[in-house]
Amino acid sequence: MKLLVTGGAGYVGSVVAALLIEAGHEVVVLDDLSVGHADAVPGAARFVRGTLREAAAEVLGEGGFEAVLHFAAKSQVGESVREPALYWDRNLGESLALFEAMRAHGVHKIVFSSTAAVYGEPEAVPIPEDAPARPTSPYGQTKLAIDGVLTEFARMYRFGAVSLRYFNVAGAHGRFGERHDPETHLIPNVLRVPSGEVPRVDVFGDDYATPDGTCVRDYIHVVDLGNAHLLALTAAEPGTHLIYNLGSGSGYSVKEVIDVCRAVTGHPIPVSVGPRRPGDPAVLVASSERIRADLGWKPERDLRAMVADAWAFARGESA
Ligand code: UDP
Repeated sequence: MKLLVTGGAGYVGSVVAALLIEAGHEVVVLDDLSVGHADAVPGAARFVRGTLREAAAEVLGEGGFEAVLHFAAKSQVGESVREPALYWDRNLGESLALFEAMRAHGVHKIVFSSTAAVYGEPEAVPIPEDAPARPTSPYGQTKLAIDGVLTEFARMYRFGAVSLRYFNVAGAHGRFGERHDPETHLIPNVLRVPSGEVPRVDVFGDDYATPDGTCVRDYIHVVDLGNAHLLALTAAEPGTHLIYNLGSGSGYSVKEVIDVCRAVTGHPIPVSVGPRRPGDPAVLVASSERIRADLGWKPERDLRAMVADAWAFARGESA
């Protein structure tokens, strides 16, 4: 298939672009490089630099595209609280421009990169897709609003849409990995200690109502996540909007993650326990039963593999 990957210079987008190419697809990456890296775009992909508003219509207008995988977004919760207008514009506004370009050029299949942040503070875990969606940040609100647009475009304009709500994505795929600036995610931050960049890692609170007092999250390997996108592509049917959670279904505490990092790197990794980070729920674990049942997806890489691959990436080795 000829596919457009928006945000293919970012972490998840570049990994999925690489997996699509490995599976024999033709990939065009559209990314404005506002947060991504040009050298993260797989060599076999054609790269167009631009925003969705500037360039989506022109790229799709060349014809032959069968589907879009849409990753381009601003994704930092804290930044979204400080600058909500930026998030509404860049996430919802740019997405609408993309969907209109798709409509204009008869491309109706889309796989959308969504997030567990749409659920906010959960009433119960594991979280199923029909749990109340009450995002606690503008970031989560913009992603939920895009889901609303996709539901409408499926109903009115025969889009075949699949939204994948990611939990905590980690790991790398060879030379494709996580390079955020600033980095807020736990595993790359922990690995900065054995890399020699920082002397210790900050643990944001150890007084949560969890077995060891630190927050519990559901980590999923970026390659397992990527494989779900390939399955979702085949499941996108005109007139339907499917929504799937993507997690491993098991939770690990911050302390457990740090222990795995110690085991993988052989470094003692000193920690400094500080105050809670505002907005962090104690436990977030996905129910991924729906995508397992509907598409036969299952995660195959455990937390140790995520850390080992992230560590190889951090040291510039291919995993
Ligand atoms: N965390 C931490 N130190 C860090 C980064 C994250 O203690 O340097 C904690 C954070 O408070 C949360 C968990 O690790 O409980 C996962 O955070 P991350 O930002 O990776 O993902 P989130 O769950 O917020 O999407």
